[in-house]
Amino acid sequence: MIELELQSKTHDEERQGEALMLEILPEKNNGRKLYIESYGCAMNFSDSEIVASILSEKGFVTTNDFNNADVVFINTCSIRENAEQRVRNRLNEFKGAKRKNPGMVVGVLGCMAERLKAKFLEEEKLVDVVVGPDAYRDLPNLIEQVDSGQRAVNVLLSREETYADISPLRLNTNGINAFVSIMRGCDNMCSFCVVPFTRGRERSRDAVSIVAECTDLFNQGYREVTLLGQNVDSYKWAPHPALSKGEDSDKPGAEKVLSSGEDLGEATVNFAGLLEMVALINPDLRVRFSTSHPKDITDEVLYTIAKYDNICNYIHLPVQSGNSRVLDLMNRTYTREWYIDRVDAIRRIIPECAISTDVITGFCTETDEEHQDTVTMMDYVQYDYAYMFMYSERPGTLAAKKYADDIPEPIKKARLEEIVAKQRQYSLVRLQAQLGKVQKVLIEGYSKKSDQDYCGRSDQNAMVIFPVDERFKPGQYVNVMAERCTSATLMGKIVD
Ligand code: SAM
Ligand code: SF4
Repeated sequence: MIELELQSKTHDEERQGEALMLEILPEKNNGRKLYIESYGCAMNFSDSEIVASILSEKGFVTTNDFNNADVVFINTCSIRENAEQRVRNRLNEFKGAKRKNPGMVVGVLGCMAERLKAKFLEEEKLVDVVVGPDAYRDLPNLIEQVDSGQRAVNVLLSREETYADISPLRLNTNGINAFVSIMRGCDNMCSFCVVPFTRGRERSRDAVSIVAECTDLFNQGYREVTLLGQNVDSYKWAPHPALSKGEDSDKPGAEKVLSSGEDLGEATVNFAGLLEMVALINPDLRVRFSTSHPKDITDEVLYTIAKYDNICNYIHLPVQSGNSRVLDLMNRTYTREWYIDRVDAIRRIIPECAISTDVITGFCTETDEEHQDTVTMMDYVQYDYAYMFMYSERPGTLAAKKYADDIPEPIKKARLEEIVAKQRQYSLVRLQAQLGKVQKVLIEGYSKKSDQDYCGRSDQNAMVIFPVDERFKPGQYVNVMAERCTSATLMGKIVD
């Protein structure tokens, strides 16, 4: 299956299966080694850091060799069938290690654990522990249970858990960019999507703890934070817990919602307000966020982005389909016209803004003409990047229950190939438009291909490569004149 993932930081293909290593040793070493590898979106990678923090408190040290480990965890993704297949294949590879070391605890965490629950223990005999995304605090007990000879499951979903008080140990990091979860779960029920079932109800994390974590990151030398949530525009937090849990604040008697530019006081904080609070930490801290939902993104958020130089001009706005009938079947709750209106608002309020998207081809009953509406949407928006997928039916979702997965695979694939080719064209057009312009780039490190070159990202999230200049180090901003490009990268040189 082709999945084109250009420049994604929220789902980074190169990080799939990455093993996480703690840079610092726990205060009290219990002599046991933890191996943890992660799949799927940035939220999962961020969760693995929470898991590592919880177990580090109990004295575990990390290893990057599962053959050497006492506890082997795999943090899983269920979003498409191939994501689950990848995890099954990986579990097979752990079998030899478990045979050599029968005391080794093998655990499955995350979305696939939540979806399959105890069935996992029946299906995969080597698995000892199955833990859903809201139950990580219980891991030390669950490991004890396995040590005493039982297999253990905790897949309880929570309406409150945000792990707000746990400072994640940042693993395998460049010390420059960090992901910060601002909310968990999703209430949207898009008909194709398994996330509401695997990650539970939407809840927003305490704004004060988010600002504290970002401030701490800045003080440690980090220069970019990406605020993560499935639908960041519905972020809402109040000192009053009922409102933070996403309950209706429009009802009579509800507390005032804090927008950008207002004092925190006792009011509720919306996403524009939170963005502003994080932007105000320091002008040298870049702020990114993902994912925006077209039905919820407000002009207020766009004006907040426009107001602060350090909030990056880049919005990930998944369209999924350009056809209103298909969008309705997908339960996206917006039409083609609504989406275009939001794109027009972005172009009006933040003219330099880059826009990326997610597209699904071959959703149930999609006709060729309806697919062409997606193609013309791409012509209209001219996305900077796109993450494109063939529809993959997921058990238990509304679409799996209500509609036949009736588009043959070769048609799904041909449609995907068509939009992948189109996107490549527009990615090139968008980068060509930057040639001859100066980009403010945060240096992330040496380029993968040569230690003679640095790499970093522009405000609009384009990868920029330029010759090393010893006066500047990773973590610093430089101005780079863009001189050449491919469809994925800008190349240039530092200018004063
Ligand atoms: N919350 C985000 C949103 O609403 O856009 C994205 C969540 S999901 C982790 C990332 C992307 O995976 C979706 O935008 C969608 O394009 C894709 N996706 C989700 N379920 C899928 C499915 N059953 N088949 C194919 N792609 C799917
Ligand atoms: Fe899934 Fe829709 Fe929620 Fe995104 S908004 S996580 S696609 S249900």
